Amino acid sequence: MSDYPKSPDDSFDPANWEVFRQLAYRVVDRMIDHLATIRDQPVWLPMPMDVRESFQTSLPVEGIGEEKALDIFFDRVLPHSNGNQHPRFWGYVQGTGIPLAALADFIASMMNAHLAGFDQAPALVEEQVIAWLAQLLGFPKSTRGLLTSGGTMAGIIALAVARQVKAGFDVRSEGLANHQSMRIYASTETHHWLVRGVELLGLGRSSIRWIDVDADFRMNLPSLQHHIERDREEGIRPLAIIANAGTVQTGAVDPIHSLADIASRNDVWLHVDGAFGALAKLSTKLAPLVEGIERADSIAFDLHKWMYLPFESACVLVREGDLQRQAFVIDAPYLAPTKRGLAASGTPLADRGIELSRSFKALKVWLSLLAYGSQPFARNIERNVVQARYLSRRVENATNLELLAPTSLNIVCFRYRGSGQDEATLDMTNEEILYRIQESGLAVVSPTRVSGKYALRAAFVNHRTKENDLDLLVDRILLEAERLNQTDDQEPTQ
Ligand SMILES: *Cc1c(COP(=O)(O)O)cnc(C)c1O
Repeated sequence: MSDYPKSPDDSFDPANWEVFRQLAYRVVDRMIDHLATIRDQPVWLPMPMDVRESFQTSLPVEGIGEEKALDIFFDRVLPHSNGNQHPRFWGYVQGTGIPLAALADFIASMMNAHLAGFDQAPALVEEQVIAWLAQLLGFPKSTRGLLTSGGTMAGIIALAVARQVKAGFDVRSEGLANHQSMRIYASTETHHWLVRGVELLGLGRSSIRWIDVDADFRMNLPSLQHHIERDREEGIRPLAIIANAGTVQTGAVDPIHSLADIASRNDVWLHVDGAFGALAKLSTKLAPLVEGIERADSIAFDLHKWMYLPFESACVLVREGDLQRQAFVIDAPYLAPTKRGLAASGTPLADRGIELSRSFKALKVWLSLLAYGSQPFARNIERNVVQARYLSRRVENATNLELLAPTSLNIVCFRYRGSGQDEATLDMTNEEILYRIQESGLAVVSPTRVSGKYALRAAFVNHRTKENDLDLLVDRILLEAERLNQTDDQEPTQ
């Protein structure tokens, strides 16, 4: 529509709200069409060169108007995402997104609420969401927390609290210079958010003591104990233990009860990285798999993974809520709580983390829990675990495939195992299979290395997957492997 009216006087508000309403309806229609047909679309396809190059145009000084700008989006951006909404996307632990929650993001932006705190209902929504999530994970009333952009940010906030509480001096005022070194213990399977965290918090990578794992990729307890004792003897202060409830590679769960015992015996902080695994707690069937997470001093988990909510949404909970505030609060005259009025309640949310201006991401969590309750989430999580087990069984039953790690939760690491090829050849074959699967548009699994071997990794945080989707994946892997073998056979020997 080229007769779309231009706004007068450079107002970003439309000249005619009725016309804007029609534009918005069309956007809603296009996005719903996109979601309604997602299963019929390729999961992912390599981007055409002309699309790639279309993002190199120079900065517009005078724009092309709302309609044309949106047309370009629908033409060149929407069809070329990485595919994580699709029922056959299992790469990299990326959630699918719940449609109602997308509406919540729209509302949050239309409302443009500022979530530092203040005397406003949106702040109470976030507090309620935090309380609900604490309850779901079994944390006590004293718990406070914060919604964050992701698990990385949630973990870093928790680590900052741990550092302030357990350092033995006031890190916030003194900094780390001229103080004894501190140690953080984590298994070698821990996600690299921890590396980001210790680097940013000035502890340095050398503060991490990587603890080896057992055959099930769970932290080795005697090894942990040994290192804590040795560090103490050497004058290094043990600060925190990081427990994984669902490692990023294989979904392994560390022995959390034992880690909680060791933490309390040694007066160190216990932080649980439960990025996706913590949500298993929502299901009474699966909760025993992550038993003990409720004993942590802090926990970080994503809502944009195993709660299927749109990016960005995650949460950090701190068992003794006051400690979180003490680790972050700063007085500033321009933000001081007032006796009455808008700022009477201060900025309690901003006081629990790094960011001051914060979005109303709580709304998508709140609306989804209000609309659906916790049980449908529990059932979807259970279904994903069943799917992971189903894929594992299909792998085990196929003579040419093998598991590379036990399937403890919702992640399957496997590969084509061939017949008698050496490890280097198997790595190359599996890498080629992965590319072919991705480039065919049929499915996305992602690569990793497990015990040094190239692995295909399928992570189930997808509420759209059906069992038949897994059959399609396995059949295609076997077919591609067969094709690769045939071309190998045809190659002239030299
Ligand atoms: C994804 C993930 C993280 C990081 O979370 P983001 O939301 O991507 O920042 C941390 N730990 C584990 C185990 C993860 O799977």
